[in-house]
Amino acid sequence: MTDAIRPLIAGNWKMNGLKSSLAEFEAMLAGASDVADKADLLVCPPATLIASFAERARGSKSLRVGAQDCHAKPSGAHTGDLSAEMLADAGASAIIVGHSERRANHGETDVEVRQKAEAVWRAGLTAIVCIGETQHQRDQGQTLDICRGQLNISLPDGARSDNLVVAYEPVWAIGTGLTPTAWDVEQIHGFIRELLIARFKGEGARIRILYGGSVKPSNAAELMAVANVNGALVGGASLKAADFLAIARGCP
Ligand code: PEP
Repeated sequence: MTDAIRPLIAGNWKMNGLKSSLAEFEAMLAGASDVADKADLLVCPPATLIASFAERARGSKSLRVGAQDCHAKPSGAHTGDLSAEMLADAGASAIIVGHSERRANHGETDVEVRQKAEAVWRAGLTAIVCIGETQHQRDQGQTLDICRGQLNISLPDGARSDNLVVAYEPVWAIGTGLTPTAWDVEQIHGFIRELLIARFKGEGARIRILYGGSVKPSNAAELMAVANVNGALVGGASLKAADFLAIARGCP
């Protein structure tokens, strides 16, 4: 039963955060136990902050630290890149792959996203694989086809509920203040759930499907109550502890 899935509220800090952001992270850590009955928390800061955040979060049962991207290879001549093994070594427990900003700004393909997800597993971490349609694709009525195509290619075989999280993030909703209706989200998450079950059987019924795109305290409760929404991937509103924790409190 998907109802029993424990929600995950994951914060994607993107290219925001300096050493001075440790105070905000500590406020999240301090509040995490208050929302522990609602959701697991994951904060994905820029790579420069992973080690210090993970050190502070050591021992926390409800808040973990993640990363925003990785290279598919474990090591080698890839200037400026970071492997999943390096991020695990720094203290990450999960890695976001295939975020639409990576797909758009770095030309990442579904095949590359799958290779990155495999790298995340190779390092023993959880892959958070992002999918979602653009405004143009939505206007063309292609939302479900786009999601199906991205899932088919971006997800490796062997997905389980403890190594994969899927994040449905309509590109047009990211950072815009726009969100799909709860009805739209229900249709799309239901469709994603069917595909996950068809491919991964019982595990597919338990893999978390996060909604992402302009989630904030004022809309979290409505979105988190939708069937097959098992948490949120949060960008802007994850930078402030008060907002991030309020979103977690919105989980049913
Ligand atoms: C994101 O970038 O993953 C995201 C959901 O951003 P925002 O919450 O700011 O729309």
